[in-house]
Amino acid sequence: MATIGWIGLGHMGGPMSAHLVEAGHEVRGFDLDPVANDLAEANGVVVVDSIDDAVADADAVFTSLPRNEHVREVYAGAGGIWASAPVTALLLDTSTVDVETSRWCHDESAARGFAFVDAPISGGVGGAASASLTFMLGGDPAAVAAARPLVEPMAGHVFDLGGPTLGIAAKLANNLMLFVSLLGVAEGAALAASLGLDARRFFDVASVSSGESWPLRTWYPAPGVVDSSPANRNYAATFSTALAEKDLSFALAAGEASGLDLPAAATALGQFRELIAEGYGGLDCSLVAKHPSPDGSV
Ligand code: NAD
Repeated sequence: MATIGWIGLGHMGGPMSAHLVEAGHEVRGFDLDPVANDLAEANGVVVVDSIDDAVADADAVFTSLPRNEHVREVYAGAGGIWASAPVTALLLDTSTVDVETSRWCHDESAARGFAFVDAPISGGVGGAASASLTFMLGGDPAAVAAARPLVEPMAGHVFDLGGPTLGIAAKLANNLMLFVSLLGVAEGAALAASLGLDARRFFDVASVSSGESWPLRTWYPAPGVVDSSPANRNYAATFSTALAEKDLSFALAAGEASGLDLPAAATALGQFRELIAEGYGGLDCSLVAKHPSPDGSV
């Protein structure tokens, strides 16, 4: 069994690290948030006071952090991973970052002699809790092979996408598809309602017809139709609008860097940015269905 350092014990990192404890690993965790630390401790993670303490002597180090800048700071900062982990430690970042940050992690890790794997995830907090996440691994073959058994206790599916940054590339392309189809579901549901269709009866049709999709099945934007829909719970976030904006902006930046025009994704991004400007960034991204609502409320 391995000694694992885990930085970032939030909505995803908390339950994910707990599965590694269940699998018999010693997990030393660090987070800036005392509430996250307390929850992790209750799950058997040995909570420590610094990144240094979490990664010293580690066989592997996981990061699960909000944004590019947090990942860069945790890796490169004084007392950060590169300064403190043994060079034999395998480094895995499960955060959703942009391709540029992922490339930087690979290059700067390699320059210091570390093996790094981009290991983004799909499946949300439910997938993290039930250990059914999809892992998308990018890196050199030996590093990805070493990563696989470490991520398996948290995973339903593990994919080796090939070389460095191809895991994050798969994650961004997947989420672009998700958010563009979410807008289609939102507009189709609005049209159906405006033409007098009952939401449940229309859902029954679309879910076995060519309008079927993951957001239709999971986030149908009318209360009382799909149990998992945030519409039943005032749009409490299962995937926040702020996170959707982040992922889509990274996808668009990646498209721009490769000379690709992505007009549908740009429209979806604009919708999420409007919601954030109106103060709804913390609510579920399926709220786009209510925007703009006829009475101006959400
Ligand atoms: P979160 O905000 O709940 O957790 C991130 C944690 O990192 C927080 O507890 C925060 O205190 C901690 N942190 C920030 N800076 C730190 C530092 N310098 N040192 C130590 N800890 C620090 O976010 P989350 O929902 O768990 O998401 C984590 C990552 O996973 C993000 O990149 C997100 O895009 C990605 N992701 C999230 C979901 C989801 O549904 N929530 C799904 C797939 C991928």
